[in-house]
Amino acid sequence: MINVTRTYLPDAGKYKSYVDRIFESGWITNNGQLVQELEKRIKEYLGVRNIVLVSNGTLALQVAYKILNLKGDVITTPFSFVATVSSQVWEGLNPVFVDIDCETLNIDCTKIEKSITKNTSGIIPVHVFGNGCNVEEIERIARKYGLKAVYDAAHAFGIRYKGESILNHGDISVLSFHATKVFHTIEGGALIINDDKLYEKARHMVDFGINGPDRIDWLGINAKMNEFQAAMGLCILDDIDEIVEKRRMVNDYYLEKLSKTGCLKFPKHNENCTFNYGYLPVIFENEEKLLEVKCKLEESSIRPRRYFYPSLETLPYIANRCRVPVSNSISKRILCLPMYDSLKTEEIERIVEIIKTVFNK
Ligand SMILES: *Cc1c(COP(=O)(O)O)cnc(C)c1O
Repeated sequence: MINVTRTYLPDAGKYKSYVDRIFESGWITNNGQLVQELEKRIKEYLGVRNIVLVSNGTLALQVAYKILNLKGDVITTPFSFVATVSSQVWEGLNPVFVDIDCETLNIDCTKIEKSITKNTSGIIPVHVFGNGCNVEEIERIARKYGLKAVYDAAHAFGIRYKGESILNHGDISVLSFHATKVFHTIEGGALIINDDKLYEKARHMVDFGINGPDRIDWLGINAKMNEFQAAMGLCILDDIDEIVEKRRMVNDYYLEKLSKTGCLKFPKHNENCTFNYGYLPVIFENEEKLLEVKCKLEESSIRPRRYFYPSLETLPYIANRCRVPVSNSISKRILCLPMYDSLKTEEIERIVEIIKTVFNK
């Protein structure tokens, strides 16, 4: 079976030596030494000022909205993983969807201003599939209207924009370290916060709002990362450059083979950004062809996934029906093919051959 992704597992011996350290210390959670070590190393690796590690990316989003005091309407994209929007609704926010650009699949910045009202408190864009948003334009709009910007950067680990970490843009960027992401800690996530005061507050907020012995200064939640998660992260961080390089080779081989067929389109990359090759999305002319290809692949035990379908404005718990025809159309016609560092050349060839049979009959 070839799945859409395969979780990267580090050397078992290395992981066990970290586990030995955890057992020796007897300290398994609550800002332990491995979490502190991982924070320091990720911060350096990414080139960011402040990072708070948390137990998953969804909680990181929720903490970000809370700490920035987002209220009422927030402008966001309908083309993402459901957590972008479910976390907003969970926090009592009202997502206002702005359509996506048909080439980059990121929020269409030319349409944001029209959707801003006196009830808007923030913009929550996504660097979808690790493709960087037009952060300068979003910054300009946020400043002009006094809005906060939270980037769902769950796919954007290691992405650099004009030579600097893209995570330094906006008030807060949120990462996910779920097992399916390019870099993972089994489950996990992080908040990247530029403002030092806000960062201090976030550190306490993910720990029940406790601010020292016998002091509870803020409303908080439990979003702490534990030592076993951090151990996984420390192991994988050693290998991350190699993982991304292998993914690049898988990506390039796919594109070479697939572009020859001439029947599929690919999202357009932001040329100011580096790329981490987290996903291999292909766009079909219509949904029928997509379903046919998906079915044919599944018959051969190959499992692509419909990332991201359905378009999020159609969710049953969304009250206001925004019109976002581009997202609605793309989400029906986009499929993510298997993509991971250890995917073999022969496997890619097999996948492409099956796709070709659907188009050449
Ligand atoms: C994975 C993902 C999340 C959620 O992260 P978890 O760590 O699984 O909670 C949020 N947003 C996007 C775009 C994601 O892909």
